[in-house]
Amino acid sequence: MTNSSAASDNNNEIGNNPKLERTPVVLIADDDPSIRLVLRHTMEQSGYHVIEVANGLEAVQATIKQIPDLILMDAVMPEMDGFRATEEIKKITECHDTPILMATSLDDDRSIARAFDVGACDYITKPFNWSVLKHRTSRMLFAADAERKIRHLAYHDVLTGLPNRALFMDRIDQAISRAKRENSQFALLFLDIDHFKVINDSMGHAAGDELLNIVSTRLIGVLRKTDTVARLGGDEFTIVIEGLNEAEAVVSVVKNILATLDSPISVNEKEVHIGGSIGIAMYPQDGESFGTLLKNSDIAMYRAKELGRKTFQFYAHEMSQKAMQRLDLESQIRSALKSEEFIVYYQPKVDLVSGECRGMEALVRWQHPEKGLITPDKFIPLAEETGLIIQLDEWVIRTACQQFKEWRAAGYQINNLSVNLSARHFKEGGLLNHCKDIIDDIKISPESIEIELTESALVDNYVRAKEILTEIHQMGIRIALDDFGTGYASMSYLKEFPFDTVKLDRSFIQGLPDNIEDAAIVKAMIQLAEALNLNMVAEGVETEQQKVFLLDNGCVYGQGYLWSKPVSADEFESVFLEKNT
Ligand code: C2E
Ligand code: CA
Ligand code: CA
Repeated sequence: MTNSSAASDNNNEIGNNPKLERTPVVLIADDDPSIRLVLRHTMEQSGYHVIEVANGLEAVQATIKQIPDLILMDAVMPEMDGFRATEEIKKITECHDTPILMATSLDDDRSIARAFDVGACDYITKPFNWSVLKHRTSRMLFAADAERKIRHLAYHDVLTGLPNRALFMDRIDQAISRAKRENSQFALLFLDIDHFKVINDSMGHAAGDELLNIVSTRLIGVLRKTDTVARLGGDEFTIVIEGLNEAEAVVSVVKNILATLDSPISVNEKEVHIGGSIGIAMYPQDGESFGTLLKNSDIAMYRAKELGRKTFQFYAHEMSQKAMQRLDLESQIRSALKSEEFIVYYQPKVDLVSGECRGMEALVRWQHPEKGLITPDKFIPLAEETGLIIQLDEWVIRTACQQFKEWRAAGYQINNLSVNLSARHFKEGGLLNHCKDIIDDIKISPESIEIELTESALVDNYVRAKEILTEIHQMGIRIALDDFGTGYASMSYLKEFPFDTVKLDRSFIQGLPDNIEDAAIVKAMIQLAEALNLNMVAEGVETEQQKVFLLDNGCVYGQGYLWSKPVSADEFESVFLEKNT
């Protein structure tokens, strides 16, 4: 890096300021050859490299050719004097911070003031006091160097040495000016390392840091010198690629990046496999400012991740609309929680032999003031993503438990209540305490509550989920595996976790009794549940034939439209509940 402003230092440099390792360059501008000779000697003795010129004009020209670390400028020279030359040099962007020491024999206040006015850092009077001169130059170089270091720190990422967000922003602003001038376009790439968090968590932060350094070196390796790569933080990198004739030209660069990330990386003497997801925003069509371009490349990156990682996506306008709608929905869910717009519906769980209602499943609905009744598939996924599901689930469980208790108190015959729980509870923690609080507050017997969980909730959180569920089970709360058969390592999970019930997924019931495969699977699953001493509930039973098949094969409980859709508490009470006689 030279004496340049932060915005113009060399692209893609890594690590510390190279300035420290090389000899400082001092430019001497004086029309008196004998003074130049002594000055050169003194400066070289101090360990500097010297360039000599004889007037102001030459000083400006020499500076443009090679930016010095310090300029010693005589005030009075032919052609162009030192004041003018200083003024001209300060106009060069790269020389904003270059210290200039003005040498003047005119020891009057006016010239000193003028020297500072035009941009000199300090002045020294002629004839020189050599020891003062040595001191002053070395102090100025030291100060300039310290300033440079501070600036380097302020504009670079400490870990990788890559430009940071502030410098990247500056680069984008420059790229925008250039593109405007040249009527060209450029691409902003947003790169996120796939599975970085897993490696960081499992192998430790030092390994994570090492990985990020390797990634940054590889990125520099596949990019041109004129491209800028920056680290925004975490595992997020941004890249600007200029001089593109068409948007498609960026694709080959992106493919190179993905390819270089795809080859294994050795960290801690272990080979790890990563990959990247890249979002691309083009100037000017996808945004005309740094903020918009960055936001849109980020949106496109998320889309790439959704599409299955190790891939890239161009930003498209519809994406931002979708993102806006999601934001909108998120804030609506938040306020719906506050204003209690959610309601709980109940679906009966029926004894297949007697046809009697034995329990019910609580299923949430959203009574939207404008859109009417909204089913959970429209809002649960987003609630899960944003973590709002924790609050929502707790509200549903409380409401349903309260209702259940009232029905019991009123003398209705009802055995148990099932509630659904999101996988998020295992990631956030606190589930056990939520359960305890609810049971304490409402004073409901834990044995009458069954929580329903899907396999996916368990797969991602295997160890913790097992611990938590075991404790919850010890409290007396029953546990059901929901959507059984749709997931992963179902069979072993049935033995590993403290389940009481499995709920056979609707997709297997649909094909009954004619679909041979479904019939075989359902039979086998019923047998498995029997062998493991688990209750079996068939979900989504819609026809009499399906019920008969299930009954014939030993399934005990069913749920589905054959008996009823989920209904409001009032309807449930009037249609399904009977008092003890
Ligand atoms: P799920 O737990 O598998 O619930 C069963 C879903 O199947 C319900 O959809 C129910 O209305 C529907 N269903 C029941 N019988 C039949 C049938 O015979 N035919 C058909 N076609 N469908 C039937 P719903 O109420 O829309 O809920 C969808 C999913 O949303 C639930 O699937 C559950 O995963 C989730 N969910 C609902 N309420 C909550 C809640 O309070 N908390 C959490 N975390 N998730 C919930
Ligand atoms: Ca369920
Ligand atoms: Ca289910």
